[in-house]
Amino acid sequence: MRQKLPSAADSSWRRNAALFALVLAAGCASVQTTESGTVGVDRKQTMSALVSEEDINNGAAQAYAQVLDEARRKGALDRDPAEVQRVHAIAARLVPQTGVFRADARGWKWDSHVLTSNEVNAWCMPGGKIAVYTALIEKLKLTDDELAAVMGHEIAHALREHGRERASRAVNQSIALGVLGAAVGAGQGTRDLAQLALEVTLNLPNSREQEIEADRIGVELAARAGYNPRAAVTLWQKMEQASQGSPPAWLSTHPSREARQRDLEIYAEKVMPLYAQARR
Ligand SMILES: [Zn+2]
Repeated sequence: MRQKLPSAADSSWRRNAALFALVLAAGCASVQTTESGTVGVDRKQTMSALVSEEDINNGAAQAYAQVLDEARRKGALDRDPAEVQRVHAIAARLVPQTGVFRADARGWKWDSHVLTSNEVNAWCMPGGKIAVYTALIEKLKLTDDELAAVMGHEIAHALREHGRERASRAVNQSIALGVLGAAVGAGQGTRDLAQLALEVTLNLPNSREQEIEADRIGVELAARAGYNPRAAVTLWQKMEQASQGSPPAWLSTHPSREARQRDLEIYAEKVMPLYAQARR
């Protein structure tokens, strides 16, 4: 969810050139990661053959385990049973809806945890590894519908494989992250893949089009799960209010907050019949 600028670019142009040559040799594939759904998300995506779905999912599983371990050591993992129960309950309703967008997602090893942090944040790593930070729930006093909106949005990023797409773009544009170079290098190991998964989840910002896609798919997932999709709109209002004076990077770097808000309103209305159906 949080957006910030890409980490320092690799200074070695030689490595960039080598990467670029590798990309040319390995090629890219134009793929459709998801069905378009009621919201009609149908953009074709370009994925580098260097970053396979299996690799990045394996890396994510390992990175997630590391994040959880570290949180556990700090006493910051799943501290409030009521909060954990809320997040689990919402995930349990959202996940079965993912099949509408991609059949294989129902079989992913989904997992969700609550991390104690002052940062207003949540994410879903490739392959369905979800984290919700306590500050998001507590500072914004989220309702279940709003929490479902956040989680639906983050899940949508994973369904669309936006992390892998960003990694592919980084390779293609030769924004050589050292870690990416390592991941595609000769000594490729799961440790590097874990680092790559962490990097695309926490540091490489989503593009504007990826955000819009996650917003649209997110409201459909929420509506189908019986959560009021209009909550996505109030969620954004709360986020903006909470960030008055010092907007978080992921909010302030966004090109047009108003356009995004309008888009959410339109798509929330579009999926209201699905919500009504789910409530019946
Ligand atoms: Zn997002």
